[in-house]
Amino acid sequence: MSDEDNKPARKPLGLKRNVDAGEVKQTFSHGRTNKVVVEVKQRRRLVGKPGEVAPPPPPPPPPPPAPVAAAPKPAPKKAVSASETPQERVARLQREAEEERLRLTEENRKREEEEARRSAEEEKRRAEENRKAEEEAAKRRAEQAEATVEEALEPAEADDESTPTPAPRKFTPVERPEAKRPEKVEVKKKKDDKPARHERGDRGGDKRRSGKLTVTRALNDDEGRRARSLAALKRAREKERRLHGGPSAPREKQVRDVVVPEAITVQELANRMAEKGADLVKALFNMGMMVTVNQTIDQDTAELLVEEFGHNITRVSESDVDIDTSVDVDADETLKSRPPVVTIMGHVDHGKTSLLDALRGTDVVKGEAGGITQHIGAYQITTKGKDKVTFLDTPGHAAFTEMRARGANVTDIVVLVVAGDDAIMPQTIEAINHTKAAGVPMIVAITKADKPEYNAQKVRERLLEHEVIVEEMSGDVQDVEVSAKTGAGLDDLIEKILLQAELLELKANPDRDAEGTVIEAQLDKGRGPVATVLVTRGTLKRGDTFVVGTESGRVRALIDDKGKQVKEAGPAVPVEVLGLGGVPMAGDQLTVVENEQRAREVAAFRQQKATEKRTTLAPTNFDTMFSNLKSDVIEFPVVVKADVQGSVEAIVNALHNLSNDEIKVRVLHAGVGAITESDVTLASASNAPIIGFNVRPNPKARQLVEREKVRMMYYDVIYHLTEEIAKEMAGELGPERIETVVGRAEVKQVFPAGKKDKAAGLLVLDGVIRKGLHARLTREDVIVSKTTIASLRRFKDDVDEVRAGLECGVVLSDTNDIKAGDNLEVFEVEERERTL
Ligand code: GDP
Repeated sequence: MSDEDNKPARKPLGLKRNVDAGEVKQTFSHGRTNKVVVEVKQRRRLVGKPGEVAPPPPPPPPPPPAPVAAAPKPAPKKAVSASETPQERVARLQREAEEERLRLTEENRKREEEEARRSAEEEKRRAEENRKAEEEAAKRRAEQAEATVEEALEPAEADDESTPTPAPRKFTPVERPEAKRPEKVEVKKKKDDKPARHERGDRGGDKRRSGKLTVTRALNDDEGRRARSLAALKRAREKERRLHGGPSAPREKQVRDVVVPEAITVQELANRMAEKGADLVKALFNMGMMVTVNQTIDQDTAELLVEEFGHNITRVSESDVDIDTSVDVDADETLKSRPPVVTIMGHVDHGKTSLLDALRGTDVVKGEAGGITQHIGAYQITTKGKDKVTFLDTPGHAAFTEMRARGANVTDIVVLVVAGDDAIMPQTIEAINHTKAAGVPMIVAITKADKPEYNAQKVRERLLEHEVIVEEMSGDVQDVEVSAKTGAGLDDLIEKILLQAELLELKANPDRDAEGTVIEAQLDKGRGPVATVLVTRGTLKRGDTFVVGTESGRVRALIDDKGKQVKEAGPAVPVEVLGLGGVPMAGDQLTVVENEQRAREVAAFRQQKATEKRTTLAPTNFDTMFSNLKSDVIEFPVVVKADVQGSVEAIVNALHNLSNDEIKVRVLHAGVGAITESDVTLASASNAPIIGFNVRPNPKARQLVEREKVRMMYYDVIYHLTEEIAKEMAGELGPERIETVVGRAEVKQVFPAGKKDKAAGLLVLDGVIRKGLHARLTREDVIVSKTTIASLRRFKDDVDEVRAGLECGVVLSDTNDIKAGDNLEVFEVEERERTL
């Protein structure tokens, strides 16, 4: 519309100029309208073609409304003169015109003054009115602008009057505008009738001051205003519709039954309602909730929204949303026997790892081309008899118990390792108890049979004390003498495992959507979140959509324990799964679902649950704080983040073991991956330090750490961590190690340096890099190595420091694991006596 408006506006400009002399009068005469214009035109035409003079005058007079009084007068005069000769008539007319013009000028002046006064008043009034409405405000601005233009134009006006020709002549095409002008004037008139006085006032004011500009302005204004008012009207209507009718609009369109789980993201809800996410965000904002489309809202809030938008809500409960695999029982005829899953337990140094390695060595498929041993948390061997056995690769009962605590009882058989040259040790006893608690059958492997001091009989006897009666002692627990070193007894062990498995009648349905248990999960430096999943039933295939714990994903790749990509994995087969949305926890269940929406829904629901659980920690925390005050037990809250699940569990256990009657470690949250904003928020809310084990905060979290002044404790050795925290808890605080980050750089490229070293080409992003300083190399916020700057070069010259914005080459001590894209954080370490 604006384009159209502009065009007509321009044309009138020309006209006005031509008409100027006449127009001026118009303005004056009516104070606002056009009468004068008409006369001017007549005059001009008369001069050129007298005959034509008569006709034009009549049309112009009619358009002007109020000024009519002035216009009619000249018209009759002209009529009279028409009887004379054309020349005389022209002369007379010119004279008359001059007189008339003078008269009108005077009149106009008077009117102008009057009007100026009036319009000033009006303007004041208008200004007040304008203030009330935005639209009005816009008008006011326009007026002011006009006023200034008019002022500037006033001299030109005078010129036009004294020498009417020059300006108008330049704009010869004036005629076109003339023709249009009357129309416009009419429009104006029509409008004038309707609009309030002040609108007229505007117009009058315009004309009054300068014909050309005034008219143009007036026209423009009129057009603009017309357009504006229309547009404004539309906008206002739309706004109204949106505000009040918004919800009603969809109501008219279609009322939907919206299925809402206990937690749903705003975007997902918008999708289900077929509304715009932004509209929901707006509606929420109006309810006083500041959320983004990606945030999760609860069912009650969702209900408000659904109602607001005029749809019907169908609430679904936890059982509707979450997946309960226990109800889905496979029919007997679908079950096929599956390999047993074995966990090896025993006291430290009794030979668990050696035994696992030795057993792996018995795999007849091992030697196949491309088979590189991968430690993915579990492996499967194929025996000489083509039977398969799956071993969980994480020895010890801690992982076993953690998994069990999370409802993931994946182990079918426990192999209890006892060194034949040693006695029953504390962890042996623990392992026995854990196994018994789990109700899992046990096979005793008495290892290190090759050792001279080996005494299996002694072990059997000592086991009796712990109610483990092996077959040789006429019990029902199988036992076997093995040597990981020589391989003696390994076949026997496998045989006994298979026998036990047979007794257990292990079966699963392989022909269904897969379910599995996460054995291990981590944020891989290059591949993102990776989980080792042990399929419990069904067959997991590439491309399957799944939900695992609080994460959803789609199987991008499956990698077996030999590092080979596989297309699918059946029951009891451990595989690494790529394509997860985030890092799940060990023990989490993986379930293949029909589509991504379902996966996301379940994941979102579980996330919400997890958040609820975590956030409810705070109040509990306060409660316990108070109760602790009474009972004098001090809490030591921490947030733990580590690179792998195993470390998380180890740290959490170690921390819990530090607790005593006086002080207790409270782990607010423990998880795998980079330290995130939510970790920092949680830590800051409870005034807890964040323990980062081989991980660093991501950039956003880093800012928050600085802002919230959260204490960060970085470690790469668990022992250091527990030692320091134990000391802190005991109040025996050693000197405080204060790390100050002095610079950050990005690895741009890596090239060989010397015989075996690698050098990194860096771009210093922040601060400064100095030779000899401590440095951490991180890849996707996971610490790859802790090192020092061994040498620093700039253009082949050794330098002491390089500042931000510059490139340099460094050699890092004790590490060659550097990749382009890695980040280097350089820091100084200061040891200070603690002051509490
Ligand atoms: P873990 O802590 O239970 O995993 O025990 P390891 O497997 O690490 O073994 C601890 C030590 O015992 C290592 O030095 C192994 O070399 C040694 N070891 C393990 N098994 C045998 C064995 O069968 N014979 C001999 N001679 N040494 C063994």
